[in-house]
Amino acid sequence: MSITAFECARGAGSGPTLWMHGCVHGDEYCGAFVIHELIRSLEPNTLKGTVVALPILNMTAFQKKQRMSPFEGYNGGDLNRAFPGNPTGTLTQQMAHVIYRGLKKHADYLIDLHTALTDDVRWALFANFPGEVGQKGAGIARAFGYKSTLPAPPDILAGSAMMTAAGDGIPAFIIEAGGKGPAFNDEIVKDTAERLRNVMRHLSMLSGAVVDHGKQLHFSNFAWVHSTQGGLFQRSVRCGDKVEMGQSIGHYFDLHGRHAGDAHAPQPGIVLAIHPGPVMSSGETLIHIGLDPQEV
Ligand SMILES: [Zn+2]
Repeated sequence: MSITAFECARGAGSGPTLWMHGCVHGDEYCGAFVIHELIRSLEPNTLKGTVVALPILNMTAFQKKQRMSPFEGYNGGDLNRAFPGNPTGTLTQQMAHVIYRGLKKHADYLIDLHTALTDDVRWALFANFPGEVGQKGAGIARAFGYKSTLPAPPDILAGSAMMTAAGDGIPAFIIEAGGKGPAFNDEIVKDTAERLRNVMRHLSMLSGAVVDHGKQLHFSNFAWVHSTQGGLFQRSVRCGDKVEMGQSIGHYFDLHGRHAGDAHAPQPGIVLAIHPGPVMSSGETLIHIGLDPQEV
């Protein structure tokens, strides 16, 4: 297996360079399949501009079937917190440096594909920097068309490819589609690839009318909430559901199957991701909520 898998589709017509990558977190495989599906569908004769696609960005983590690089484990091994990298740093920092050097040089736009906990995850975020970078990011988000969208404030997710690129003037967008590991299917892959083709029509890289996906819900931020109880767990809400503060979002059971209490939404908002069960350890991510949804 090579260090970096790399695909490049150069169109006959002139246009922007769209950089996309998957598996910056090594076990978020859905994005790699989306990139393969998209690249297979592109015809250089009808493409304007260039698509640079790296389906598996963090090869060391991918080979271990885990989120983080095994070389640093959980102590700095998150490639998506290591950008723009360091040429004399740790393995992950050096990887980030080499990747980001190419990204900064070539990319006019960045799309970064992720997954979360379960196969019903469908949300997106763009770097909401002032001026054109944020405006172009919002345009990509609208063309992609997920209803749940976070215009990400510039002070969050430091060291991510998205925020680092936006800081260098490159509009940047993250897709969260499907769940970790095998928790995705062909339907998600095909739908996400078609939404990316719509983004490319929006950017005039492909011909055809841009599909209007309708109104979006924009959040002010998101909240990660950790479980304070362990046991068997069964969620009772799905991604995209609206929750009120204190609402039951799942049930705990003991090892004999007896009901051992409910988990409650700590803040109101829209469910972006929730623990899949069936086994919860205290301290695991319970729920991820989009805050202050506003229809735009
Ligand atoms: Zn991720």
